Amino acid sequence: MDLTQVTEGRTTIAVPCQNPDVPFPPGTAPVFYNSRMALNRDTTVLVIRQTTPHSYLDAMAASGIRGLRVGYETGVPITLNDKDPLAIDLITHNVKALDLDARITCRDANSLMSDEKFGFVDLDPFGTPAPFIDAAIRSSGKYLGVTATDTAPLCGAHLKAGIRRYMARPLNTEYHTEVGLRILLGNVARHAAVYDKGVSPLFCYAHEHFVRLHLQLKSSASAADKSIAQLGYIHQCPKCPYRMEEQRFFPGVHTCPFCGVPLTPTGPLWTGSIHDPDILAGMIMDADTFVAGDKAGLSKLLPVCRDEPDISFSYDYHKLGKFYRLSPGPIDVLLNRLRDKGYHAGRVHYSGYGIKTDAPLDEIRECLSP
Ligand code: SAM
Repeated sequence: MDLTQVTEGRTTIAVPCQNPDVPFPPGTAPVFYNSRMALNRDTTVLVIRQTTPHSYLDAMAASGIRGLRVGYETGVPITLNDKDPLAIDLITHNVKALDLDARITCRDANSLMSDEKFGFVDLDPFGTPAPFIDAAIRSSGKYLGVTATDTAPLCGAHLKAGIRRYMARPLNTEYHTEVGLRILLGNVARHAAVYDKGVSPLFCYAHEHFVRLHLQLKSSASAADKSIAQLGYIHQCPKCPYRMEEQRFFPGVHTCPFCGVPLTPTGPLWTGSIHDPDILAGMIMDADTFVAGDKAGLSKLLPVCRDEPDISFSYDYHKLGKFYRLSPGPIDVLLNRLRDKGYHAGRVHYSGYGIKTDAPLDEIRECLSP
């Protein structure tokens, strides 16, 4: 395998050489490395610097970049695992070059996670993490990281696959990214509850083609009950922008107050908060001096997440304008008008056109008028 050096954050490793003009088609590199996931790994390193788990498992390590960054940039003891012997050769090369003390294992992730416990278990598979979630919850002593790149099933574009993998009904709406994030989170919460574990989101977000969860697991039946109480549904009118959130185990039947038609439920999904404000505040402070792989992406993401209202759905304000035949002004004007009326209102982290507010639809419409 021809290798080339890459530096991400403060960590330099070797990855398979690729001609920038002829990149490997997805999934065909001898060992996987994607520089576009640097932001994902930056956030993990920042979360780990806030939480300092006693050990960390990169269950699907490929080149090792994620776990190596955790080891090199946080000092937390790491285990790097991959079932592919070629990946293990590369990881071994990288561990030696960094002079790191790391444990390397070449096992099926589910088998390893069934045998051993780690302070922080991290899942970063190709596509869906669904087949690994159960074992990861059993293996995790305290923290769990999950990446999902199967956004089409999660967000409702591949409805049946979404239902099969996550036992929830996604919905392809203008806020499908949020639905995908909350369906994945709800799915993890339900798996954790089986083992009397509750889930506390530390920092969860969606970006480009992935959803990323950083969670704390709390072992007690009451913590699990508390998580289950955060599950619910978003009900969407099929004809107009009306939508509502319902925190309830079984979905109710609701009618659109504007159109009189039945609302379509999506879920079960997580309706609680997706960040821990103290962890996020710590990450933002740390990010000032942090050597990031994607500094620009990180500087944009963290403050928007901090300021995003704690609401499970959003509106695309251009789509609202189109529906009401209004040409909306700048997004900040709309947000300020809503805040002046006493409502919570803010931007969303996954779309430049998205807003979250607790204002009723007719108030939003009024504030949208030029
Ligand atoms: N974490 C890596 C990073 O940040 O660049 C990317 C991991 S790559 C998307 C997925 C890796 O999981 C591949 O290297 C693959 O060999 C490995 N893998 C797939 N199924 C596995 C399994 N059941 N057990 C262990 N490793 C597995």
